[in-house]
Parts: sequence; C-alpha cells; structure tokens
Amino acid sequence: MSTIFGKILAGEIPADRVYEDDRCIAFRDVNPCAPTHLLVIPRKPLAQLDAMEEADEALVGHLMRVATLVAKQAGIDDFRLVVNNGAGAGQSVFHLHLHVIGGRDLSWPPG
Ligand code: 5GP
Repeated sequence: MSTIFGKILAGEIPADRVYEDDRCIAFRDVNPCAPTHLLVIPRKPLAQLDAMEEADEALVGHLMRVATLVAKQAGIDDFRLVVNNGAGAGQSVFHLHLHVIGGRDLSWPPG
C-alpha cells in the first residue's frame, strides 16, 4: 500500500529534496523538530525496520551513510539518527525512514 512517502517518491506530492540516488532520497521533514530535520527513505517500499531481510542489509547501511552525508551537507557534525519502528514507538508513516536531527542540543533519553 502506498504511503505519503510513496507519493513523494513518485513525484505525486512535492518535497524539499536534498539528496537522491538510485536507492534512496532525502528531504526535509515538513514538521521539523530541530533546525535540521531530514528524512532518508529507500526507494524500496519497506514498511518499517523490522520488515528488512538479510538482502536489505546493504541498503540499510547505505541509508545510514547517506544520513551522514546529508548531515554534513547541512553543516552539522553532531546529529541524531532515529528510526521509529511501529506505532507504539511513534511511527506514523509506514515506509521506512531515518530521521536526521540536529542543529541544537539534543537531550537524552528521548520521550
Ligand atoms: P514517524 O512518526 O513515522 O517516525 O515520522 C514521520 C515523519 O514524516 C514526521 O516527522 C512528519 O513530520 C513527516 N511527514 C509526514 N508527512 C509528511 C509530508 O507530506 N512531507 C514531509 N516532508 N514530511 C512529512
């Protein structure tokens, strides 16, 4: 089932893209929780992290590398990567995505 991120991938709704390649895209979160809040998503429609299979290991590793690239591109060295897996963990869009959050001091633990 297509999600809002599937529609962004298909170009059916706009997003402020900051990176794209043959495996993923990154764009600004529409409701940022920090000065830098980017989302990195695979083109492959994995619903969530625990849907990944062994064959997806290289893809998920690539998403993490792209997350670091877009953070550097945004001018931040310190940042947090967040993957919410499941509604109880805060996931609202069921297309795997990495949040790249930074540009302010981040407290720990998260809520
Ligand atoms: P989740 O809660 O699933 O971990 O994160 C979903 C994120 O997607 C949220 O931070 C939310 O602000 C963002 N989001 C939801 N709809 C859109 C949209 O249409 N465009 C963009 N750029 N971000 C969205």
